[in-house]
Amino acid sequence: MSKPADRHTKPLPSLSARHIDPHSYPEGVAFLDGQYLPMSQAKISVLDWGFLHSDATYDTVHVWDGRFFRLDLHLDRFFGGLEKLRMTIPFDREGVAEILHNCVSLSGHRAAYVEMLCTRGASPTFSRDPRDAVNRFMAFAVPFGSVANAEQLQRGLHVAISDKVRIPPASIDPAIKNYHWLDLVRGLYDAYERGAETALVLDFNGNVAEGPGFNVFCVDDGKLSTPAVGVLPGITRRTVFDLCAEAGLAVTAADVSVAALRQADEVFITSTAGGIMPVTMIDGIPVADGKVGAITRRLTAIYWQKHEDPAWSSLVRYP
Ligand code: PLP
Repeated sequence: MSKPADRHTKPLPSLSARHIDPHSYPEGVAFLDGQYLPMSQAKISVLDWGFLHSDATYDTVHVWDGRFFRLDLHLDRFFGGLEKLRMTIPFDREGVAEILHNCVSLSGHRAAYVEMLCTRGASPTFSRDPRDAVNRFMAFAVPFGSVANAEQLQRGLHVAISDKVRIPPASIDPAIKNYHWLDLVRGLYDAYERGAETALVLDFNGNVAEGPGFNVFCVDDGKLSTPAVGVLPGITRRTVFDLCAEAGLAVTAADVSVAALRQADEVFITSTAGGIMPVTMIDGIPVADGKVGAITRRLTAIYWQKHEDPAWSSLVRYP
């Protein structure tokens, strides 16, 4: 009898999710070249432009307690990026959604970090013309991961503001979710050198932009603001706007200066990798009284409640 791993190497049409033993793949499951594979077997060519030129777009959605959170919004952003980069994949939205469901259900995980991505691929003739490359779609589901660990979620993250400047929108439209992370990674090293846990980098005007994998908000006199330009329009950021509308809180997208962030009553960051996460220290100085703020707590609670709401989340189709 074949092992589950053997069955995963069969092409998509012959794969039956019902016959896969859940929890077989603690490290997760990938979909690559029409096959489902254990994560450790999901490999691409070093000649792929996704690797050589960071010519790729992707999106990450999470599954919490067996439910996708706002999958439609993540699919919208992913397909928008594909169109802007002139990439084509052999699946429509329903096809991609089905692959994501399969990756999660095959992995057996009920809390997962689920990525869909497309690279430019490589040209069979080594042509330097991107139009000759064969675009490559892949997806994977791995265990849920968070920007902040349990301790940091409780006491708030310690952040440094780096002087590194996020790649400007005139160079790369930030709405195309991308792997241009050298600015963010350099910002992280600045942060570590200063004893902080993560970094915020600046926009081209010297205002605060975003961090490695997250947007940022500050709260002043009960009003929220988040940087408007030069940042990924995060789905969690968008969710904060939606939650504020429901909760009757004022929120705007506007320039956030470094001084404004330092003087804020509350600061938090947002990401699919962790949700709404408090920041209580900036460059070694406490934000307000150094405790997690009341609005941050309130929004965090509603954010996680929404994960059970069918209007905001959808059940993973487990076997
Ligand atoms: N900004 C950057 C640069 C990111 O990479 C991410 C997520 O990966 C975010 C912000 C947060 O976006 P989302 O809330 O959609 O996860």
